[in-house]
Amino acid sequence: MDILVKAIDVSKNFGPFKALDQVSMEVARGEVACIIGPSGSGKSTFLRCINLLERMDGGAIWVNDALMGYRRDGNNLHELSDAEISRQRRRIGMVFQRFNLFPHKTALENIMEGPVQVLGEPADQAREHALSLLARVGLADKANHYPVELSGGQQQRVAIARAMGMRPDLILFDEPTSALDPELVSEVLDVMKDLAASGMTMIVVTHELGFARNVANTVTFMEAGKVVETGPASEVLSAPKSPRTAEFIRAVH
Ligand code: ADP
Ligand code: MG
Repeated sequence: MDILVKAIDVSKNFGPFKALDQVSMEVARGEVACIIGPSGSGKSTFLRCINLLERMDGGAIWVNDALMGYRRDGNNLHELSDAEISRQRRRIGMVFQRFNLFPHKTALENIMEGPVQVLGEPADQAREHALSLLARVGLADKANHYPVELSGGQQQRVAIARAMGMRPDLILFDEPTSALDPELVSEVLDVMKDLAASGMTMIVVTHELGFARNVANTVTFMEAGKVVETGPASEVLSAPKSPRTAEFIRAVH
């Protein structure tokens, strides 16, 4: 199997508090890995370690064989410079709970911004790609709308298109539907499902167990900064080994 993301014994402390306690995880290329678990269990912190928004205190994460946060020189590890960190982060898309679009830019401009400013794509090429992505998320007719003119579900679909615009190796989703009105959840999940079917590697923190069951390859249950259980989605969701996982699944349903 072609492993795209490999995390080994990742630890993160906030003062004396262990937000992540030796979290390990592997995600194969083209797979969807869902992370579930109660609030405060460290899910967001783990995603933030993967894309270097947070510095780990222990362990290691590789994405595409690049050791995140560090550079190997023989047996020595050197922390990456800010420039090296931003180079690594470019390969990883992120979609947050709160639609974090640039409010003063249109949907189209939001998607074009990164490719033009960060990747140096010519504007007309970026525009064409952005328009095709908008069509793909069902928003071809909203290209010139500002975020305030879009529903939460539409804004989140633009945020997904924006992440895709950077042609990432991996997209991280942190509870992408939990700030949405219930009737808008499925349009966002449908776009994510389509993205998964296209072969994008995705790590998705979500309470949408139906999505996890239908789309995810693996499900990982976290609690109190630890991985309690991980395995094929159908096994973890239908026949959890840990009573804690079972209890959580019952409570979310
Ligand atoms: P989850 O996403 O599973 O709800 P988080 O990763 O956001 O959990 O948080 C895990 C724990 O770490 C929580 O108890 C949270 O309060 C704590 N935490 C997260 N970020 C910080 C921070 N910057 N400073 C102090 N504590 C933090
Ligand atoms: Mg969170």
